[in-house]
Amino acid sequence: MVRQLVATPSVSSQDLRFDQSNRGVIELLAEWSAGLGLAVQIEALPGQTGKANLIAKLGEGEDGLVLSGHTDTVPYDADRWSDDPFVLTEHDGKLHGLGTADMKGFFAAALHAIARFEPGALRRPITILGTADEESTMNGARALAKKGERLGRYAIIGEPTGLAPIRKHKGVFYVQVTVSGKSGHASNPALGVNAIEGLQLVLAALQSWRDTIGARYHDEDFEVPGPTLNFGRVSGGDSPNRICAESKLTLDVRLLPGMQRSEVTAELRDVVANALDGGPWGFDVKGVGGYADAFGGPSDAQFCTAVETLCGCSARTALFGTEAPFLTELGLQTLVLGAGDIAVAHQPDEYVTMAAIERATDVYAKLIKRFCIEPA
Ligand SMILES: [Zn+2]
Repeated sequence: MVRQLVATPSVSSQDLRFDQSNRGVIELLAEWSAGLGLAVQIEALPGQTGKANLIAKLGEGEDGLVLSGHTDTVPYDADRWSDDPFVLTEHDGKLHGLGTADMKGFFAAALHAIARFEPGALRRPITILGTADEESTMNGARALAKKGERLGRYAIIGEPTGLAPIRKHKGVFYVQVTVSGKSGHASNPALGVNAIEGLQLVLAALQSWRDTIGARYHDEDFEVPGPTLNFGRVSGGDSPNRICAESKLTLDVRLLPGMQRSEVTAELRDVVANALDGGPWGFDVKGVGGYADAFGGPSDAQFCTAVETLCGCSARTALFGTEAPFLTELGLQTLVLGAGDIAVAHQPDEYVTMAAIERATDVYAKLIKRFCIEPA
């Protein structure tokens, strides 16, 4: 299964040169799910025929467990991979391929876990959810949240967590700051307004604002306990002999649970405005993607405890974003738990071990038994 999933490209990217349909992966999952007796729904994303979510459900009723994963992968640097990223290659028990850990291996584990049970044994339904575009826009999960269909009571998102449950994670979004000036001949500064010099003021102001919000928000549950602000990209200008008319800065902002993206953006806009106040520049601040909200964890502490007991380890926090906030919006008590290491995801030679997929299969089977079969 992992081999076939990896061989079926499903890159998602906001850069349309790299973006692909995820239909091939959805169709494989639909076929395998139907083979196990699950009722399969494929839902195209609004206005995007090449992108779809899959909802495959075994059993009836409103409660039960959802095993959820995204069907897309990030783009790849073909030159940096030791082997073809779309051909599963095995070295020392490691299965290498694009999306093995993040997170095509998850679907193989989830489907094999379901296959261990007789459909008639289920008192509450088990659902496989496969989403589109998690790595780019989260539009798949967003469409599900908007539709608002109740999918179950509990959800596990099988992102690579080394099989330790994650109960909280930060939120992320990208912001672009554009500083505009006026071009002119480099020989006379009075002929233009240099946007790079404006951006320099913005950078200094944002650096000190970073310390301010770091002091204001704090959550010791996280390895990096404050919000973060990364200056990821700057661009501007074309030629040394021209005054630069426009410069841009793109930032990655990571929020703690409880912080609101809209409030942070408004504050950031004020910082930029104050930095440029009195100067000749214009500016614009806008969100440019990456939108994942922070995840504050399931409200049902018993769910968390039950999963911790079944896994044999306590729940932790993560610094990466997932679709958990969208599933929470649907009323699902959600945790993140899957095979593989996030550190190898989004990297050349990404891998998951066969042993980890087998352990994940065992854990998912225990969860199905606990939440779909045993008395509530
Ligand atoms: Zn992922």
